[in-house]
Amino acid sequence: MANSLIAEIFSDFVSLFFPSYCIACSDSLAKGENLVCTKCMLEIPQTNYHRDVENPLYTRLSNRFKLGRATALFKFSKTSRIQHLLHALKYKNQPDVGIMLGNVLGQRLSDVSDWNQSDLIIPVPLHPSRKRKRGYNQSAKFAEGLSRKLGIPFSDDVLIKKISTETQTKKNKLNRWQNVDEVFHVKNPLAVKNKRILLVDDVITTGATIEACAQALLRYGCCEVNVASIAEA
Ligand SMILES: [Zn+2]
Repeated sequence: MANSLIAEIFSDFVSLFFPSYCIACSDSLAKGENLVCTKCMLEIPQTNYHRDVENPLYTRLSNRFKLGRATALFKFSKTSRIQHLLHALKYKNQPDVGIMLGNVLGQRLSDVSDWNQSDLIIPVPLHPSRKRKRGYNQSAKFAEGLSRKLGIPFSDDVLIKKISTETQTKKNKLNRWQNVDEVFHVKNPLAVKNKRILLVDDVITTGATIEACAQALLRYGCCEVNVASIAEA
């Protein structure tokens, strides 16, 4: 009791001199708030796509591959607080942001029974050279947070990226599409065969990356692909 009181006083003392700030709006965080302030969590618009099977993201992606369900936590906008969150996650060495956002979406999804049905969560992979540079795969951190809340295992070494985006963009668009099969590769086919996979990404823009990953999983006999992302652009 006395020890926890001392620890609390010490932590108040530390935060007096080293306050932490909300990564979305830069206001100082209140006691008990972690990474993002309560105001931002309430005000940043969420899509709530998980409540309806036929939502705009589902409509967009289901034209491209055989899709079960699709959702995104936020609607992306370039001038918004979401931009700050994603920037911190991708470029400022804050992997905890990914886990926290995975927890938030995981909590929402756990209320809808169909979202608990996947066998394995797989993040969109980074090319090894990019992952080395960043230190972590931001989508894998998001997958980790989702995994904790949904009680579904996740693995970031089943699906791998063989060709870097830099190499890809050097080719013209036609060549790029002819080679899309070579970009993503299923390293562990047994983990995918006859399994329902929840494929996750940080931001879905054109849907081309998600499609390429989904096609690779489906080629190896995955029976259902569901999709979840932090934001939809
Ligand atoms: Zn804030």
